Amino acid sequence: MSSSPVARPDEVRRHNRTTLLRLLHVGGPSTRAALATELGLNRSTIKTLVDGLAQAGVVEEKVPRPGRGAGRPSLLVLPQPHAAVVLAVDLQVEHVAIALVGLGGQILGRNSWNLHSRTRTPDEVITHVIESARMLAGDLGVEPVAAGVSVPGVVRRADGLVHEAPNLRWTDVALGDRLTAVLRVPILVGNDAELGAVAEHLRGAARGSSDAVYVSADVGVGGGVIAEGSSLRGGAGYVGEIGHMVIRPGGRPCYCGSSGCWETEIGEAALCRALGLPEDTPRGAILVELRELGRDPAAALARLGEFSEWLTLGLVNVVNLLGPQLVVLGDLLTVLPESVVHSVGEEVRRRSLVSRAVGGTRIVSSALGADVKLLGAAEVAFEVVLDTV
Ligand SMILES: [Zn+2]
Repeated sequence: MSSSPVARPDEVRRHNRTTLLRLLHVGGPSTRAALATELGLNRSTIKTLVDGLAQAGVVEEKVPRPGRGAGRPSLLVLPQPHAAVVLAVDLQVEHVAIALVGLGGQILGRNSWNLHSRTRTPDEVITHVIESARMLAGDLGVEPVAAGVSVPGVVRRADGLVHEAPNLRWTDVALGDRLTAVLRVPILVGNDAELGAVAEHLRGAARGSSDAVYVSADVGVGGGVIAEGSSLRGGAGYVGEIGHMVIRPGGRPCYCGSSGCWETEIGEAALCRALGLPEDTPRGAILVELRELGRDPAAALARLGEFSEWLTLGLVNVVNLLGPQLVVLGDLLTVLPESVVHSVGEEVRRRSLVSRAVGGTRIVSSALGADVKLLGAAEVAFEVVLDTV
């Protein structure tokens, strides 16, 4: 009658198979011996698992290119990208990007388009995403088995309801349900900074860090938190609205209803003010100005002095609250001159008690570039498919 606390052999096998597949998916090709060591399983168990996956076409075993060592080289186990393909969608305020991503994290194909006020409505965006995804899948001859969607807003994890995406002017949009109804695969919708943190943790600058925070400044400012190796999710998935920490009493009004939010001091408009540019300067021109400034470290420190101070203040609070070993700066913050990032890092370590306690929190720029949220969206989709491949 009662279920046994001891896992059944088929459950153990299934668990081991998923763990092995996850290791190959994130870590890339590996030998059976390395997989056995990593998973703490014996060679014969690994052989059975790999043989099963190879028979199903999920992995392939290949002789690696000849190395310097003597003797027969070990076969490499490679994940097969077409064995599981997911759809990744990165919805931004002025731009939508979609990609089909294969097992192992390879982008197999992509498409993108710009948004403006008329095409930014939920109906327009949802229709375009569906049509574009179908066309791309048809061209590549693949069938996605799940989808992840990155949204710059407050998202309910359970059903993908976009509660509020102020810069898109979306309120209570049932994005997850509407996409599921048409695409008929599991749809995972997440906040963009949360998905950025997932991508950095699995494939970027935060790889190997069990506690890391991803801070991104775009039109808005957001954060994603990796705690003890997992994505931190608050009530219903609402967490990480660090852009609305109040850091400047009596500061500028924020659309959220408060004033003096971090976003009003380090968001895109604030960066424009710091650079002496109009607040509506096109993104390309901001990047050009920042790259130009990066050539003169001393000038960069002087011109962005006040901006750096607001960035530092917020980061000290974030680090004291969450105790990360690493903070990854994303979006516009990745283009900050190196001298500025370095000086902010030193100040955070000097002023944060917790930073010193964890051995000195490092502050680094994202290395994943413009694909970070697409990759994060793909990874949350893979989370639900790896045990069914
Ligand atoms: Zn605010």
